Amino acid sequence: TEKFLLQSEKLLIAGQLAAGIAHEVRNPLTAIKGFLQLLEHNFKDDKTYFEIICSEINRIETILSELLTLAKPKNMEYKQNDILQLLEDTITLLDTEALMNNVEIKTIYDSKIPNILCDENQLKQVFINFIKNSIEAMPNGGSITIEVKPQPSNYLQVRFIDTGCGIPEHLLKRIEEPFFTTKEKGTGLGLMISKQIIENHHGRIQYSSTGNGTMVELKLPFNRIDSIQPPHQEHLHQYRIA
Ligand code: ADP
Ligand code: MG
Repeated sequence: TEKFLLQSEKLLIAGQLAAGIAHEVRNPLTAIKGFLQLLEHNFKDDKTYFEIICSEINRIETILSELLTLAKPKNMEYKQNDILQLLEDTITLLDTEALMNNVEIKTIYDSKIPNILCDENQLKQVFINFIKNSIEAMPNGGSITIEVKPQPSNYLQVRFIDTGCGIPEHLLKRIEEPFFTTKEKGTGLGLMISKQIIENHHGRIQYSSTGNGTMVELKLPFNRIDSIQPPHQEHLHQYRIA
């Protein structure tokens, strides 16, 4: 039954996603069409029309490129990987962005971390999503602490703790919904994609917020057999499809 519920959950997300895409893509497209029609009758150089067209096209591109990470990439490969190395690669990638935003990235690693069976690029995508969200939550700078600790019950715990704006209690349950965003230029797809990837790795993600910032806690099993069960069983029932 556990399998059935998780499958239902995925189906529901896929459905929400399809509806969301239709809605989200139609709006910018309608705007583009409207302004193009105006241009047909107006050959004066009005730069603002072009600017609007460009920004709407950019938005579609951003949404589509985020969605593409959901479609299974051809070179997807599960291998035994050193998580610390994947984290270091990701931090290097985002170093400049962090620096420009006055964000310091600190790391606390346990000395002996066993490898994890995972797809390198998919896991890096998740780390990028978390770190970017933290940077975006700290417009006046701050810090991100990344803690990696193996747990005795056969899983690896990775925490991302930031000193950002935090997430209000009533929004916490919505942040993984497709297209849920509080940002003007957000797509609201990052956490939904992260959830999907981590479920494929038999792990779990938990979000908590204190008002002094946000903590994202990732749990990844060392062995597939020890897949991390959700904290509240009842929670899954609401995803059941009739
Ligand atoms: P996006 O970043 O495009 O808005 P995400 O799925 O990555 O989409 O995040 C959804 C929402 O969750 C964000 O708009 C933000 O409100 C909230 N959120 C996620 N991570 C954090 C964080 N570290 N601090 C504060 N809010 C966050
Ligand atoms: Mg994001």
